[in-house]
Amino acid sequence: MRATRALIHLNTFRDNIRLVRNRVGPGPKICAPVKADAYGHGAVPMAKAALEAGAAYLAVATVGEGTELRKAGIDAPILLLSAPIPEELPELVSSKLTPLVWDREFIQALSEAAGETALTVHLKLDTGMGRVGCRPEEAGEIAAYIAGFKNLSLGGILTHLAVSDSEEADHSRYTKEQLARLRDGVERVKKAGVDPGLVHAANTGGVAFHEDSFFDMVRPGILLYGYAPDGAEKTLPVKPVMELITQIVYIKQVKKGETVSYGRIWTADKDTTVATIPIGYGDGLPRRLSGGALQVRINGAWYPQVGRICMDQCMIDLGSESAVKRWDKVTLMGADALNAAEIAAKLGTISYEITCGINKRVPRVYVESTTAP
Ligand SMILES: *Cc1c(COP(=O)(O)O)cnc(C)c1O
Repeated sequence: MRATRALIHLNTFRDNIRLVRNRVGPGPKICAPVKADAYGHGAVPMAKAALEAGAAYLAVATVGEGTELRKAGIDAPILLLSAPIPEELPELVSSKLTPLVWDREFIQALSEAAGETALTVHLKLDTGMGRVGCRPEEAGEIAAYIAGFKNLSLGGILTHLAVSDSEEADHSRYTKEQLARLRDGVERVKKAGVDPGLVHAANTGGVAFHEDSFFDMVRPGILLYGYAPDGAEKTLPVKPVMELITQIVYIKQVKKGETVSYGRIWTADKDTTVATIPIGYGDGLPRRLSGGALQVRINGAWYPQVGRICMDQCMIDLGSESAVKRWDKVTLMGADALNAAEIAAKLGTISYEITCGINKRVPRVYVESTTAP
């Protein structure tokens, strides 16, 4: 196996799920989002670990993601969060996914595709995210429409929160309004004579900041992978599950005035030692980190990345008197180095995009933290 690997700390993941369980109490079910290959951590292993640690539901974004879990022998309910196109419906049915529905055209197409197969659906309300879902006022009629199909049954009703991860007063107020609209939708479904099933709303921000969003199930994603929103680090001391490592493959002396890598954006200001590591933007390490934003850890000390990050390699300035040796381990991201949120902040993005971005060329290695990598 190549030196560049993403170590996935399974015990940390299970600990993070336990922290969520402690936060929400024994009542609500936990749905573990494993979309986008479990935020880059590997869908099947993370889904299995989540179920072992007490999650009852899984969530994916695409039909293909759901099928991958079924092929791995997972039989837990799987919510399909994003809308499929008609040609995906036969696979949705054969994989027994639980789609989110909100409009008559789709519900009818789904029922036709299901044929003799009984499918459970969840009713999605748009309470202010502005992405997908019916308006809360329509919830009763749509629930009754679902109830009219013999092969469909309503298993839940949900919404998605747009600003729940912010403690700002304006945002808290907006979240409260979204939750009130969800409760209104639930009442309308009940008035229409339909059992709404599981009520759910809480993403990571909901779990962190809004106890009134827990209802019957919570769906925290990034929190399970180790990133709590700003201000929730103390109440939810989750730890990063992914650790990105590599090894030094070459060390050389660079003289004052010499340049390193494409574009010559870095010039040695003194004689120094430079290490080459086999990771680049072809692995999903953002090229925009080039030239000083990225600090890596080697044998417990920090060193700067220097020069342009190439597709497959980049360079580290070890300084003039370094004891670092060829083949030494380098940590680019993780609990002992910069974490994905810190790297994301340097790029004006979010931790999600960093972990999702580490691509297939980087093998995922599943470890318990006591295991030496
Ligand atoms: C992705 C997603 C989640 C999880 O969001 P996080 O911010 O990672 O907690 C929950 N619900 C829906 C509908 C989603 O699309």
